[in-house]
Amino acid sequence: MSIPSFQVHLESNEEITPNVRKLVFRLDDPKTITYKPGQFVSFMLGTEDDRPIKRSYSIANMETNSDNSTYIEFVISYVDGGKASNLFFNAEPGMEMEMTGPFGLLCLTEELPKRVFLVGTGTGVAPYRSMIEQIKSRTDTEFHILFGAQYLQDMFYLDDFKAVALLDHVHFHPCLSREEKPGCVAGYVQNKLKELEPNPETDMAYLCGNPNMVDEVFEMLKEKEFGVKQVKREKYVFSRF
Ligand SMILES: Cc1cc2nc3c(=O)[nH]c(=O)nc-3n(C[C@H](O)[C@H](O)[C@H](O)COP(=O)(O)OP(=O)(O)OC[C@H]3O[C@@H](n4cnc5c(N)ncnc54)[C@H](O)[C@@H]3O)c2cc1C
Repeated sequence: MSIPSFQVHLESNEEITPNVRKLVFRLDDPKTITYKPGQFVSFMLGTEDDRPIKRSYSIANMETNSDNSTYIEFVISYVDGGKASNLFFNAEPGMEMEMTGPFGLLCLTEELPKRVFLVGTGTGVAPYRSMIEQIKSRTDTEFHILFGAQYLQDMFYLDDFKAVALLDHVHFHPCLSREEKPGCVAGYVQNKLKELEPNPETDMAYLCGNPNMVDEVFEMLKEKEFGVKQVKREKYVFSRF
């Protein structure tokens, strides 16, 4: 089966932290996309020595407005000297691109256990932002969203996560590793997760973002006898080209 490809154009490009921009693309052709919250797409950045240059980004939100135009939102962090970083951080509205996908299995399963931990560092919380409507409706499960960053100024989507955490079955734990701030946990997401005493009998975990964090938390959960299917992972690994 061929991979679906989409022509899109940049609708807006906004700085949301000193190192992260929110980019919204509009689908031009085809005009709709079927995706599951938690999935990602790949942007084609051209070719180098006949090799395609692609970069993947998690869908943070998708909306279709009254005239049936579909908008897809991404949060992209800056990597010094990075090809995509330089392109996206300087991109002007109207820029046309090709995107393929959606891909990935970091999606909420039909059957969920008693508790679900959604753990992300930096832009690794994007998939959980896209799950917000599902989280709201899955009231039989207790959700814990753990967002890790160094400083409060590096966090985004705080209003969205705080709003969903007003529901009894949802808890939001913003964790800051380099400073202490009221309403935030001091330390790494790993430590907060340990405090919540993950239990393979009742819990499942989703891990996304920094590959070191994902590996570290996965090892910790394996030691607690979580099975591979009880831990879903998406590592933001760098591309080789
Ligand atoms: C499934 C998936 C989903 C992803 N989703 C997102 C997302 O939603 N938001 C997002 O911001 N990123 C996401 N990424 C990462 C993204 O695809 C790119 O790898 C990232 O934007 C860097 O690309 P670049 O072209 O700017 O840097 P490159 O040109 O690939 O790299 C430039 C240099 O920086 C190094 N480098 C690359 N990335 C980092 C890093 N993070 N830290 C330190 N050094 C680095 C490289 O080794 C290289 O030397 C995702 C990755 C995957 C695999």
